[in-house]
Amino acid sequence: MTTYRACKSCKRIVEKGRKCPYCGGDLTTNWKGTIVVISPENSEVAKLLNITTPGKYALRVGK
Ligand SMILES: [Zn+2]
Repeated sequence: MTTYRACKSCKRIVEKGRKCPYCGGDLTTNWKGTIVVISPENSEVAKLLNITTPGKYALRVGK
């Protein structure tokens, strides 16, 4: 079983590594919920979370 991490900055879910490959932010295992964004411009949730790039994101990321 893999422990996925989420980026504290952009909320991207990252499978491996210590830094977010998308924005260079710190990763955390303290996150909940996933959302897969396919077309950010058509997704209300993506707008709420300020997501502009398709991908897999965490709904909540802890400190
Ligand atoms: Zn990031």
